[in-house]
Amino acid sequence: MKPLVVAYKPLPDDVAAELREHVELVQVDGAVALTEALAHADGAIGASLKITPAMLEGAPRLKVWSTISVGYDNFDVPDLTRRGIVLAHTPDVLTESTADTVFSLVLASARRVVELAEWVKAGHWQRSIGPDLYGTDVHGKTIGIVGLGRIGAAVARRAALGFRMRVLYTNRHPHAEAEAQYGAQHVTLDALLAQADFVCLQVPLLPDTHHMIGAAELAKMKRNAILINAARGPVVDEAALIDALRNGTIRGAGLDVFEREPLPADSPLLAMKNVVALPHIGSATQETRHAMARCAADNLVRALAGTLRENVVNPEVLASAQTA
Ligand code: NAP
Repeated sequence: MKPLVVAYKPLPDDVAAELREHVELVQVDGAVALTEALAHADGAIGASLKITPAMLEGAPRLKVWSTISVGYDNFDVPDLTRRGIVLAHTPDVLTESTADTVFSLVLASARRVVELAEWVKAGHWQRSIGPDLYGTDVHGKTIGIVGLGRIGAAVARRAALGFRMRVLYTNRHPHAEAEAQYGAQHVTLDALLAQADFVCLQVPLLPDTHHMIGAAELAKMKRNAILINAARGPVVDEAALIDALRNGTIRGAGLDVFEREPLPADSPLLAMKNVVALPHIGSATQETRHAMARCAADNLVRALAGTLRENVVNPEVLASAQTA
């Protein structure tokens, strides 16, 4: 009998068809339907839903969870590990598209692309623009990458080789390749905040990165600096960011992620001209979302077969399965 797998996000037709060659696939929508379906499931595949330990209480057969994302902050990883559930994710396939999104936020924020495009569409372009609508340059400036991993390195490459920018970064460990290839300099967070014209956040959301950027950090940034967040909303204290943008503590922000998503319609951020807000589209291209679904489906099938070795968030589960 084929293992039963619950999909809680629609999969591309070809990926679903390939998956059905190996598993019996049940498609559900929403947390309640997912929790019910988990009662008989061996695996789950999907994204963008908080998965709590309570949802797994009635799931005695569950062995594999395959998230269609690189970030895994929607999961209580130690709880999954205790239950012997393998958590697989999709690194690498989304790196370049997400770095493109980061750079679109850098350019759009600096050159006021969204604000001025709306201005043109509203019929305000009657004569050539004056200094009040000028932007600020990107090329030749200093970019500070907080969390230079896969995506951060792809941002550093764009910045150094494409825009001749100076690259600073913070990490717990130095990134030798970025230093050698892009001249990136490993500095403290304080030094990065004090020097960067663009502060780009690309750390995972973890207990120690929650509100990593708050009022104190924003105050350390240059007054004409721009904050870019395409990591996770709670890495930034959003109330403090709103204050900093209102008070002119920093120049602007380019945001793909927010503390509450979708961003509430009454968020002050929506009324700010110096904010570019995107609906969490880091990896959202047709090609990359398809590649992510395929990667997640492949992870799932191989984890169920006991052959998955890479893309595993909690490899301890594999090790204990081998010794059991
Ligand atoms: P990654 O390769 O693991 O890179 C994360 C980097 O952050 C690592 O280099 C790590 O370096 C650093 N880091 C981790 N914990 C840190 C800490 N406590 N303090 C400082 N630095 C820390 O991950 P990635 O593939 O680049 O993805 C990064 C994140 O981007 C994901 O976790 C996800 O949340 C987000 N993301 C968002 C979107 C979107 O749609 N907006 C799309 C894809 C990914 P050290 O270990 O040396 O500290």
